[in-house]
Amino acid sequence: MRRGSRRARRAAEPRPLDLARARGGQPVRVRTADGREYFVTPASPSPRGYVCPGCASAVRPGQTQVAAWEADSLLGGAAALEMRRHWHLACWRAFAA
Ligand SMILES: [Zn+2]
Repeated sequence: MRRGSRRARRAAEPRPLDLARARGGQPVRVRTADGREYFVTPASPSPRGYVCPGCASAVRPGQTQVAAWEADSLLGGAAALEMRRHWHLACWRAFAA
């Protein structure tokens, strides 16, 4: 079997959420429509009650969700990570589009 051709690495440009890539465990940096940048990663379902910032309703275990936090927070990366929010995937996509 032939091996696939090498893929050229593109210049790092924020791109829409790529879950397949994010599943590798690394947060993906994305730029939303309003020009802000966030780190986004698929989130594990949690019994903790999260409220989705997109629709202000509960993010329930079993719903596909992402965690997002500001990439360039004035408070610093660790504080921004602490303030990450869980979103419904669809709500995040609508927000980021
Ligand atoms: Zn939502």
